[in-house]
Amino acid sequence: MKAVIIGGGIIGLSTAYYLVRDGWEVTVVDRSDLSDNCSYGNLGMIVPSHFVPLAAPGIVSQGLRWMFSSSSPFYVKPSLNAQLVGWGWKFLRSANAKNVAASAPHLKAINLLSKQLYEDMAKEPGFEFGLEKKGIMMYFKTEKVAEEEIHMAETARSMGLDAVALTAAEARALEPDMDLDVLGAVHYRCDAHLYPNKLMEQMQLWLKWKGVQFVTGSEVRQVYSRANRITGIQTGSAGIAGDVFVFAAGSWMPQLLKLAALQLPLMPGKGYSFMQQPARQLNIPAILCEARVAITPMGNSVRFGGTMEIAPVNSQVNMNRVKGIVDSVPAYLPGLAVQMPEKDKIWYGFRPCSPDGVPYIGYGARYENLLYGAGHAMMGLSLGPATGLLLSELASRRKTSIDVHAFDPARFD
Ligand SMILES: Cc1cc2nc3c(=O)[nH]c(=O)nc-3n(C[C@H](O)[C@H](O)[C@H](O)COP(=O)(O)OP(=O)(O)OC[C@H]3O[C@@H](n4cnc5c(N)ncnc54)[C@H](O)[C@@H]3O)c2cc1C
Repeated sequence: MKAVIIGGGIIGLSTAYYLVRDGWEVTVVDRSDLSDNCSYGNLGMIVPSHFVPLAAPGIVSQGLRWMFSSSSPFYVKPSLNAQLVGWGWKFLRSANAKNVAASAPHLKAINLLSKQLYEDMAKEPGFEFGLEKKGIMMYFKTEKVAEEEIHMAETARSMGLDAVALTAAEARALEPDMDLDVLGAVHYRCDAHLYPNKLMEQMQLWLKWKGVQFVTGSEVRQVYSRANRITGIQTGSAGIAGDVFVFAAGSWMPQLLKLAALQLPLMPGKGYSFMQQPARQLNIPAILCEARVAITPMGNSVRFGGTMEIAPVNSQVNMNRVKGIVDSVPAYLPGLAVQMPEKDKIWYGFRPCSPDGVPYIGYGARYENLLYGAGHAMMGLSLGPATGLLLSELASRRKTSIDVHAFDPARFD
């Protein structure tokens, strides 16, 4: 049986990984040369702690306040673009406690499964991608955020996750090389991190070694179907047939699906990151809560990142938002001397955001052999292996490792 995967980000490569282990013949098609996509420059955090979807109570009013600052961490570019209007309406309708209560157990389950799968993958020959299980620190400076974060940690614990609230002194004991100017922290000991660039390179090498065919520099331009089956795809130069098709095109899913006369609510959420080698090294990855900035030690360097600009794909680098990241760091970590990076040293990527903050994993309603793997927003790296495993199980019509009904791609049809 042959599977054709469109998109070689973490979702596409993870799906190839589990399909080839199951004995499938696999082809991965990507329009890039696979040396960069959203799955490379991200912060590498594996986050069972992120069981609350982006569409949650409070995000709308907070988002509206942030809209008026050019350095804010969250921004929706106002536009009458039909994709954005449809997405925005569904986002507003999803940003409520009911969505959070319904989604949280599923987001937790898929995150925990994925973390376990990363641990298994890291034991295989050919893989050494800096997986570390030190958890993630959520640092806060204000009473208001302290209250929210400590409440969130209690909820996490009630869901069986390992999270502890720390005083500033207790947090300092875990970061002996850092000065911390914080009110306190929550340490999500259930989380982990890795070096995404290494992971992506090693996955490609492993997949090639296992016989997966890569068709790169090839944008899918046409999708062929007969009755309720996809029969093939066409790139500029090649026509490729298959038994099962997996669309894992990240933020470009709507455009890819349009070739099959299908729609999916999804918007790109642009974020920035950059690497530096400060004199002092951070021990545990950190999220600066009020600033919404993330920092992850990777090898001898530290990666800084953040911002979420909901807008169509574009190549502008908003230096004000990057400055917002740079300026926030010394307020929490005064000793971590971070410099404003040169424009050409700034990486950006587009998080594929579903309106309810829950990924799309499964068959759509229209074609019986078309699987969707997209919409993972700020958790795609974290959820890659679990998504790949679930899609491989669905492709083989096996019972899935966890319940997938919450991830139904047809839920907005
Ligand atoms: C600043 C930042 C920090 C982040 N930090 C984290 C983190 O710490 N933890 C975490 O879990 N996640 C994080 N993320 C999110 C994560 O990076 C994404 O969710 C994930 O990379 C999405 O993977 P993907 O495979 O869906 O898409 P991508 O990696 O974007 O891959 C999609 C691929 O599809 C290809 N493609 C698209 N259309 C076509 C077509 N028509 N024909 C052929 N090929 C096509 C593209 O070329 C691309 O290679 C972060 C993101 C950003 C921006």
